[in-house]
Order: sequence, then C-alpha cells, then structure tokens
Amino acid sequence: MSENFIDVMIGLEIHVQITSLKTKLFCGCSSDYRNLPPNTNVCPVCLGLPGALPKVNKKAIEKALMVAIALNMKIAESVSWARKHYFYPDLPKNYQITQYEGKGVASIAKDGYLDYYLNGSVKRARIRRINLEEDPGKILYHSGSMLTSKYSLIDYNRSGVALLEIVTEPDFRSSKEVLAFLRELRTVLEYLDITDLDLEGAMRVDVNISVGKGKRVEIKNIGSLSDIEAAILYEITRQKSLVEKGIEVEMETRHWDQDKKATFGTRAKESEEDYRYFPDPNLPPIEIDRDLLGKIAMEMPELPSVKRRRFVEKYGISEYLAHAISSNRRLAEYFEEVMKGTTINAERAAALIANDLVGWIGAERIKEIGNVVPPSEMAKLLELLRTEAISIKIAKEVIPELVSGKRLEDILNARGWIGKVSGEELSKVIEKIVSENRKAVEDAINNPRAIQFLIGKVMEATNKKADPKETYELLAKRIDEYKQKRRV
Ligand SMILES: [Zn+2]
Repeated sequence: MSENFIDVMIGLEIHVQITSLKTKLFCGCSSDYRNLPPNTNVCPVCLGLPGALPKVNKKAIEKALMVAIALNMKIAESVSWARKHYFYPDLPKNYQITQYEGKGVASIAKDGYLDYYLNGSVKRARIRRINLEEDPGKILYHSGSMLTSKYSLIDYNRSGVALLEIVTEPDFRSSKEVLAFLRELRTVLEYLDITDLDLEGAMRVDVNISVGKGKRVEIKNIGSLSDIEAAILYEITRQKSLVEKGIEVEMETRHWDQDKKATFGTRAKESEEDYRYFPDPNLPPIEIDRDLLGKIAMEMPELPSVKRRRFVEKYGISEYLAHAISSNRRLAEYFEEVMKGTTINAERAAALIANDLVGWIGAERIKEIGNVVPPSEMAKLLELLRTEAISIKIAKEVIPELVSGKRLEDILNARGWIGKVSGEELSKVIEKIVSENRKAVEDAINNPRAIQFLIGKVMEATNKKADPKETYELLAKRIDEYKQKRRV
C-alpha cells in the first residue's frame, strides 16, 4: 500500500538522554545506570521519598541551551519546572518533574527549526519546544512483552536521568522525511556531545500520526530508526484501511511491538488536564543569564551544516561528499587530519575515506576510525596515489589491509608494491624500452604528448615502482639524445 496517502501528518516527540552528564538531573546519583544491579543507583531524591529535595544539575541546563541554539529556538527568560502527574509504577513520586508551556511555567526554548536533507533538497521541520525532564524508572517484563507477561519488575536505576524532550510540529508527510530529519538531529546531538546514541535507550521517539481527517494516534517509545520507519508504515496502512471502511480512527496511545512488527492499543490517551500540571514548589525558577548564553554560543563546536558548507568552500569537494564526511563528527575531524598530510585532490581523498575506508571499517566503528587507521597512514597512502607511486586499484586493495591492523609499509613491501626503481637501474629500463619501441620514440619526437605511452611502458616494466617525475625527465633526455644522433 502506498505511503503517500493524502493528508498524512506526522509529528515527533523525541526523548534523548543527556548521557554526557556525570550525574542525574536532580541528585548526585550517576547518570551511567547501565549494567548495574537493579535498584543500586538510587537515593531518596530519585526514589521520590517524602521530604527529599531536588537540586538542579546546572550542566544539564547548559546542554539544553546548546541544543536550543543549534535548533534556532527562542530561549525562555528563566528555567522553570512543572510537575506532571500520572500514576504508573515507573514513577515513584507519582509526578514527573518536567517543563511545560503554561501558567507560571515555560519550556526552556520554543519555536525553532532544523533543516534536513532528503534526495538532495533541503527541507525544514519546525521545532515546537524543547524541555528538560527526568527519565522514569525502567519496567522489565518477566516473560514476553507488556501484553503477555504475568508480572513486571521495576528498576529505578534510570529514574531521574536527565532527558531532553524535543517536540516537533506535525510537519512530516512520510517515514522518509521522518528518518532524514532524525538522522540530521542525531548528527547535531552527536556534534554537541549531548548523548551517546550507541547506548540502548539513549533516544526514544513517540510518533504522532493522523491520516485524512482522522484523530491523532500516538505510538510510544520506539527505539531504533528501522522500527520508527516500520511503525509509521504500519500505522498509515492501518488508519487508511479504517478510513476506507468508514470506521473512525480513535484518539489513542499505541505500543509498537518490535517482534510482531505491529502497533497495539494500550490505554486511552490522557488529555492535558489529566496531568494536572503545576509549578514545582521545590524548584524556584532560575534566570537564564544572557552572558552565559553568549559564552555557550562561543564555545559551541562547529555544527554539521556549517562544517558541510566549509568543506565545500575550503576543500572544493562536492555537496554529496561533504554531507557524507560531516555526517559524523569523528569522521569529519579525521578527514581534516588526513588532509594535513597530503596535497592530493580533496574530492579523491574524501571519496576514498567516505566510501572505501568507512565501508571496510563499518558504520558502527566510525568513532574509532583514527585508531583503526591512523590519519598519518591514510595520508601516506593518498600521497603515494597522488605521486602515482601506486594506482587507485592498489590503493583500494590496501585499505582493507590497513583496516585489519597492518602497517602501510608492510603491506606494500609484502606485495612488492613499493620500493623505488631509480637512477642507474631506471636508466637501464628506459634504454631497453626505447630500443624496443622505436616507432613510439619517433612519435614522441613529433608530438611531445606521445611520451605518455613510453612512461606507461616504464611503469609496467617496473611494476609501478619508478617515480613518474624521474621517469619523465630521464625519458625526455634520452629521446632528445636520440633526436640529436639522428640529425648527425
Ligand atoms: Zn538519586
């Protein structure tokens, strides 16, 4: 069934753990809760014990402000906190400390946008607001899923970890737009060192979808890009077939089952009133110092979109490769480090790095690229290619061996690809080539460009070990001598 159904509207609520923080949002417990025995990374604050008072982690606010600047948002005058009430076992206080756009409270930032790329064109998604809030505990289902398990267990180690909630306007019309946007957002968050997206649960996405004039359905907590895509396609198809049968789509919250690849209804969607938001009396608003904002803006790393433009301008590489190289901050830094050691055409370097090197290393290991193949080794390889000491074919064969941990020099030596033929040895080869190719020598006398044929012969005879420049000079000299002799 086609996804391009008329009037599809998709909005996203993205929850990102600020994993780069040392502690939770309102207490001193570690933000690194993974791989710990259950309920050991807790204190009275994040367990919600009566009388325990939260204290804001200021670094979390700085990180959120960084994201706000990157997403072109209007930043609030002060940071204020609201209580969102709901009763669910993952929430020990029965309310979550969050931010809210309402009476006496405000989101930390609102009304921004992020441009992203799809099929070579730029699209813009509006960002409604971003909020800081605390992560609830984690519910574990003893057997099977939420729907089939006889009982559930709760681990509060995650309770209170700083979450950044990013809410978009319903600006997406297809899963492809959603995915392209999320990839760009992930790159921005990675550049800003907000979160380590390789960690399980570091990013969870709620997807709101409506089709036609139908009501909005929310699919909660989807963890991976492939599941997000599958869930959107499933839900569009489900809603569309209801509409076609004349059945009204109900406003509801659904759950994505990643094994069954389907969404299931869970509970009726709460309305905003049900949450009874009100300002948290334990957390007075903190004014956002404009000097602090200026300082954060100054110290922010170059954003992916800016880096992309600079790569095109500074190195003269194509938009396509600039995009590929800057899609990961480590990869972008690696490319620039390599370019310090070579004067090869940057487009050629970028293509070999983005396609071959990354292809062999694998997307999941990009972060370690500089350890797998040191930039100096890659630069040396590119220099050999530039000076034509090796061919592109050899360069492409060397790359997987470099990735396997071998040194460039050892690879080339083992294969007999390097070692120079020069001086007297090269002169001898040239003498032989010249005497075997009289016709080509005559051609070169009449047309200086025809010397390329002879250079090729020398390269072939030396297994490409001759230096092209030296070969040219010696050959030109030899041809000149031949010409003089012929005149006599
Ligand atoms: Zn705690």
